[in-house]
Amino acid sequence: MNQEYFMHLAIQEAKKGAVPYGAVIVKDNEVVAAAYNTVGLDSDPSAHAEINVIRRLTAKLKNPSLESYSIYTTGEPCPMCATACIWTGVSEIIYGASIQDLILINQAQINIACEEIIAKSFRNIKVTKGVLKKECLALFH
Ligand SMILES: [Zn+2]
Repeated sequence: MNQEYFMHLAIQEAKKGAVPYGAVIVKDNEVVAAAYNTVGLDSDPSAHAEINVIRRLTAKLKNPSLESYSIYTTGEPCPMCATACIWTGVSEIIYGASIQDLILINQAQINIACEEIIAKSFRNIKVTKGVLKKECLALFH
């Protein structure tokens, strides 16, 4: 399994949402949780794909820590989601479209890169960018 494979699964999740963002969490080369944006569905402004997938897995594990897990997300984590990634301690973030890419197609975004937030935190999280970027952006067409 490679990064493109897992991002493809995140894209499949994104297609379920009214707003097309999806995320999966992977450990030991296996998907352990998947979710999509349910802001409208749940009337919850915090129900981004990343928050949803983190909550789903930590609730299942009954543990707030996701150290050694990797999160794949179709869009670069916003400041809220980047912060959740830091608090839960994921080891790696892999994203498709960047915040800059999303701003260029008129998606509402807060213009702060997730790496800026990570750099100011107590964690060292590896960030991999641009995996299936075109496919992630095509979700908005
Ligand atoms: Zn977010």
